[in-house]
Amino acid sequence: MATYFIRFIVMCLSLMLMASPGLAQTCSYSTWSWNVNLKKAVAYRDVRKPYQELKEHEIDRVTGCSICVEDQVEINLPNIKPFLICRQLAPQLQSTLRELIKLGQPIKTVIGYRVGQTRGKIDDNGNRTGFSNHSFGIALDINAQHNGLYTECFTFGEQCRLLRGGHWRPDKDPLSLKLNGQIVGQLKRIGFKWGGEIKGRQKDFMHFSITGY
Ligand SMILES: [Zn+2]
Repeated sequence: MATYFIRFIVMCLSLMLMASPGLAQTCSYSTWSWNVNLKKAVAYRDVRKPYQELKEHEIDRVTGCSICVEDQVEINLPNIKPFLICRQLAPQLQSTLRELIKLGQPIKTVIGYRVGQTRGKIDDNGNRTGFSNHSFGIALDINAQHNGLYTECFTFGEQCRLLRGGHWRPDKDPLSLKLNGQIVGQLKRIGFKWGGEIKGRQKDFMHFSITGY
């Protein structure tokens, strides 16, 4: 009789855990940190922990998106390698990109979710501790090889120095994004800012996010 009772309790507990994902869910992600002294990525590591142990800096305040791969959704578009975007943003983003491709807009590569500590406070070892917007699946890079990230670039000109991706040549290269083009226009319409228009030293022409950074 006692055995049946224990089995019954165990069954009830497992049903409860399955029914409330918040209790049972695991969060996993692979990350690295940018070291400002060595100027390279260090401390590659895999993290796996119960969802309720997430810290404040592991969840984006504006969107509620987390750095857990479990919170990301795969987006499939014609002739583009699938990529991950936060569950909250995925449906609208997917339909907007699908529509743009249908209109013949040249979207060839997209990078979304990609975890890395590249900003914010620096710890005693010289490692950055803040997660980039890509880490939460709330930023995307379009046609990176034609829409570079530049520094020394308060306004775009000869003095800008390419840090990542390929050169931005909007008047010559059809894969370079255009300020008044449909891709930039439609993504702005659904609430994304374009990295080509952010204020400050850098211009990131491949990049879109809610804050632009
Ligand atoms: Zn980006």
